Amino acid sequence: MPDETPKPAPAAKPRTNFVRDIVDEHLRNGRFAAVHTRFPPEPNGYLHIGHAKSIHLNFGLARDYKGLCNLRMDDTNPETEDMEYVESIKEDVRWLGFDWQDREYYASDYYERLYQWAVELIRKGVAYVCDLTVDQVREYRGTVTRAGVPSPYRDRGVAENLDLFARMRAGEFPDGSRTLRAKIDMASPNMLLRDPLMYRIRREHHYRTGDGWCIYPTYDWAHGQSDSIEGITHSICTLEFEVHRPLYDWFLDQLGVHHPQQIEFARLNLSHTVLSKRRLLELVESRLVSGWDDPRMPTISGFRRRGVTPEAIAAFCETIGVAKDNSIVDLPLLEMCAREHLNRTVPRAMAVLRPLKVVLTNYPEDRVEEFEAVNNPEDPAAGTRRVPFSRELWIERDDFMENPPSKFFRLSPGKEVRLRYAYFIRCQEAIKDAAGNVVELRCTYDPATRGGDNPPDGRKVKATLHWVSARHAVDAEVRLYDTLFTVRDPASVPEGVDWKATLNPKSLEVVRGAKLEPGLAEARPESRWQFERLGYFCADRRDSRPGAPVFNRTVTLRDEWARLVKAGREAA
Ligand code: ATP
Ligand code: MG
Repeated sequence: MPDETPKPAPAAKPRTNFVRDIVDEHLRNGRFAAVHTRFPPEPNGYLHIGHAKSIHLNFGLARDYKGLCNLRMDDTNPETEDMEYVESIKEDVRWLGFDWQDREYYASDYYERLYQWAVELIRKGVAYVCDLTVDQVREYRGTVTRAGVPSPYRDRGVAENLDLFARMRAGEFPDGSRTLRAKIDMASPNMLLRDPLMYRIRREHHYRTGDGWCIYPTYDWAHGQSDSIEGITHSICTLEFEVHRPLYDWFLDQLGVHHPQQIEFARLNLSHTVLSKRRLLELVESRLVSGWDDPRMPTISGFRRRGVTPEAIAAFCETIGVAKDNSIVDLPLLEMCAREHLNRTVPRAMAVLRPLKVVLTNYPEDRVEEFEAVNNPEDPAAGTRRVPFSRELWIERDDFMENPPSKFFRLSPGKEVRLRYAYFIRCQEAIKDAAGNVVELRCTYDPATRGGDNPPDGRKVKATLHWVSARHAVDAEVRLYDTLFTVRDPASVPEGVDWKATLNPKSLEVVRGAKLEPGLAEARPESRWQFERLGYFCADRRDSRPGAPVFNRTVTLRDEWARLVKAGREAA
């Protein structure tokens, strides 16, 4: 049986990258004595493979530099956050093999501290209450080519600002009627420095603070200060936050508190899928997928349910590395990582997806033999198992052709093939129903080929088929997947075109009545297998039952990545 207990991500020899170079420099020049990172998801959706990249980067740095990594829920947006997401995030990070120990933090726990710090900035004269509406604020801000116009409230006195800000918190003003803004520079070429918002009035119930607050901090005001409170040294985020860095630094400098270094890296984009929580949520809510953990989803829970291992995700993150330029990584690379790990670690089994009956006319009716089958040729320690064989068997429907082309070496009338581990069989006759469909094959077996060995006369066959003994077979549902979208970059659609238009209508195929070898009847949910010649499969963690197994195909055995690499080389 495969070992399914989550293992810590392997401490693979870390490849160096620009983030590590920065960290090395900080440790050398004494800016920081140790490394302390954080992974800061907003609990407004399930984690996806892009988050896995960030998790591996942040927790990986802490592991390799013997530092710490916190888990922080970046929960400053009351409308969209939920405890279900918090729980799923924790489960997924753990499943990936990482441990935040007791450092589970919430930005919402810092609301009071942030409020007091805002008061401090008002006292310093660098923050003010503004009575412009959010739309007006946008108008006054100007454009990249036109300087902003100062708010008429910019020069309010400290006492009036303190009074108004306290009353904002106390709930005296309607939603959206006032904001607290940092007083920086309305002419700055960086639009984010044109008196950015720090607080908005929003009467929204927050999943943790309830109705305790009616003002909520903006991301820019909350994030850096949360990092500082936790003593973070390196605050790693995606590239689009590069323009926010001067603001990140400005707040911390004004407060004169512990000052982490923000470092930006390119976010992961994966082909044939979308990695925006907003879009993933839309797929879930419009029931275009069965849920966040639908095996077609690019979420961590989706890949898990599909059968991808945490080790494969670690290898994928290590392979793609960390850089500064945005690009799309091809899904087949991730599949290759999955296949590579599964090949080494999971047992083989025989399963027939689309069964065609074979009757061995010269095999005794009541005889049952057991043949020894290798569990994993890549792992001698995995041992062998015994597979029953009898007169009636199932083979794969497309392993037979009545009128085969010349290159078809599998079964056809008069032709001989090997049944893996069992015997050579020769097809004598194809039985048809009234409509002319082949419903059964009459074959003979050669007793001289017992165990699937070549016979003494040196006869050879060109094909080896998998099979399942009909009377021992277990019926199963098997789900086959294709990419969720038909195009490489579904996120880039022209204005006015629905981004969901390129969803793949054939992304899921449910096969009922597949036939499995008997050992799979009790397959544990989440156990992973290679079905010979068909790919890697995982017993569904929600729907599979003892005696009624349900399997998801993780990947086929075809290495699409090798093909892409070869095609790339030929094009170059
Ligand atoms: P979205 O905009 O889709 O809601 P997000 O970036 O806001 O995603 P968060 O929950 O805030 O999602 O992300 C938590 C962390 O994961 C952040 O540090 C973010 O930079 C990182 N992250 C999110 N998406 C990716 C990605 N595609 N590749 C790498 N890192 C990512
Ligand atoms: Mg975010």
